[in-house]
Amino acid sequence: MNTIPPFLKSASLFFDFDSTLISGEAIDELAQIALVSAPDRGARVEKIRIITNAGMEGAMPIDESLRQRLDMLQVRAHMLAPLVARLQQQVSPSVQRNGAMLRAMRDQIWIISSGFHEWIDPVVAALGLRVDHVNANRLLANTDGILKLDPSSRCAMVGSKARAAAALGCAPPRIMIGDGMTDFEVFSQGACEYFAAWTESVVRPAVVSKADIIAPHFEGLLAALSECLA
Ligand SMILES: [Mg+2]
Repeated sequence: MNTIPPFLKSASLFFDFDSTLISGEAIDELAQIALVSAPDRGARVEKIRIITNAGMEGAMPIDESLRQRLDMLQVRAHMLAPLVARLQQQVSPSVQRNGAMLRAMRDQIWIISSGFHEWIDPVVAALGLRVDHVNANRLLANTDGILKLDPSSRCAMVGSKARAAAALGCAPPRIMIGDGMTDFEVFSQGACEYFAAWTESVVRPAVVSKADIIAPHFEGLLAALSECLA
């Protein structure tokens, strides 16, 4: 199906990226690449995964979670192309299935992520969605070639996803769709009318318990929104 359902005609959909548009967490994937020759790779990948989860569940502030993980990874520019190639293979199954409808709605779809343009933009472009609708962070190279969080990044601070969503100036109804606590905050801070907990990849009980809508996949999201927005 590639026509926009009538109840969505005036809606704006704000999608999270990691564990939502794609099934994994990009920084966890980056860890697999960055630490490929580290002798204690397994232990470090696991530590990064734990920090990722702490950030997503709200147990650690998102800026702290991002900084700790980037510091542990020593990211360099040559790691980005293999990362993008991996992420292209991890588009969530229901996003893949409904690609034609998502493309038909591309002007109403925004991506709001605490991840990085450097790998989100190519994946979003390949899906046929609008790269100029991506709100995310940027990397900046130090003189030693190590990539760090660009301090002017838009989505790296506590509450910044909600601020980014509000700054888009979209008219209601606005729906935030994601798996993490920072996605719920877009709703709790008043920057959208509905929050849908996306559970296709991961179920975070702390987030699901706060959600108006549970979306196990894109079809489930549409079914729930057809009732809310009718
Ligand atoms: Mg996420």
